[in-house]
Amino acid sequence: PANGGGNGSAGAAKKKKMNGYVGFSNYPNQQHRRSIKRGFNFTLMVVGESGLGKSTLINTLFESRVYPVKDGEDSSTPRNGAQVASPTGVDITSVSADIVENGVKLRLSVVDTPGFGDSVNNDEAWRPILENIESRFDAYLAQENRVNRSKIVDNRVNVLLYFIKPTGHGLRAMDIEFMKHLHTRVNLVPVIARADTLTPREVEQFKAKILADINFHGIHIFKPVSDHFDDPETISDNKAIAGKIPFAVVGSEQYVVRSDGTRVRGRQYPWGVIEVENENHNDFVALRQMLLRTHMEELRDQTDVSLYESYRTQKLLALGHVQNNSVFREFNPRRQQEEEERLHAAKMHKLEAEMSAVFKQKVHEKEGKLKQSEEELHSRHQTMKLTLEKQRRDLEEKKSRFTQSDSPQVAAAAAAANAANASFVDPAQR
Ligand code: GDP
Repeated sequence: PANGGGNGSAGAAKKKKMNGYVGFSNYPNQQHRRSIKRGFNFTLMVVGESGLGKSTLINTLFESRVYPVKDGEDSSTPRNGAQVASPTGVDITSVSADIVENGVKLRLSVVDTPGFGDSVNNDEAWRPILENIESRFDAYLAQENRVNRSKIVDNRVNVLLYFIKPTGHGLRAMDIEFMKHLHTRVNLVPVIARADTLTPREVEQFKAKILADINFHGIHIFKPVSDHFDDPETISDNKAIAGKIPFAVVGSEQYVVRSDGTRVRGRQYPWGVIEVENENHNDFVALRQMLLRTHMEELRDQTDVSLYESYRTQKLLALGHVQNNSVFREFNPRRQQEEEERLHAAKMHKLEAEMSAVFKQKVHEKEGKLKQSEEELHSRHQTMKLTLEKQRRDLEEKKSRFTQSDSPQVAAAAAAANAANASFVDPAQR
């Protein structure tokens, strides 16, 4: 399948060709042009009950029939034969499309979750979706840990559009459960589905209730930030977008004719027309602006730097890979190998230094001993020399005394003294 990471629960992945103009290459405020030049992946997941208009919205968003819409069908009918019902009744399907716009390449993947919220008991409906998102993180982590990391395929989910049923009564238990379980793993963007079924006043009240519920339950949703932009126009555009969350959207596969004769996407009612791309009619344009034109890069960054990093840390901590405050170093085989090599080199260096110190010490000791024995020898030689010198003088003296007495004994003694003198050899000349 084109989308290798989407293997969490069940699922079919297929590849589509899209020609419609999306607008991601018009990125006046997107920061990382480098990645935009190289081409990049963007994975969008849609979650919500069947019939809320997810497929229609995706097709409207990408100006293409990414998904078939089930007009008039039973909305719980699976969309293609490849789907297999999972025990929770939620299936995960993925569609990928390569889009090139103004020389910018985008691999777009849309992940749908048909069956979510359609069961009698939806207590566990969030689980397969969380598992799918985490399995994509796992796939990325496994690639990161490979020695050759040049061809990492990034199938992590960058944004999740959560479709809220337009009841007008705030979030349901199922919505809250879902968001509470998912908000630390994905950029959550809540969307009020089929907003044309509510009056503008009802939409405003519904939004306030939803935001109050989100705050009350400590749910973290994605908010476009403005503080890193300098341009006042961009800042005010971002604030306007942020002020529309949760986006109340209307999607349509149909076109309507406006009073000026132009054909636009919209929904025709007996009382008038709702235009999809009219900012006064609904928040579709603001949502598209945020997802594809102004905040695509920020959504990718958030996924990588914040959501994925915290998942990775938790995962490695859970595996018990914590050493020297370095969670990742120990787990990553390449870094681990480098670390081992570094430690080995340091050990060898230390050993060498120790050996050299021991050698120097020994040489020093030996030199000291040699010097000492040399001095001893020298002093012994001096003593012997002095002794022999004294003996020679004594004998000389005796000889002269005997020579002076002239007796035959004296003559014999003198001869003996001469003989002794002749046999004397100076030890220094030996
Ligand atoms: P999904 O099951 O959530 O993917 O829903 P679909 O996109 O297949 O739409 C189900 C039905 O709702 C179709 O008949 C659509 O024409 C209709 N629909 C989709 N979007 C809207 C909308 O914004 N407003 C209204 N009134 N109907 C919509």
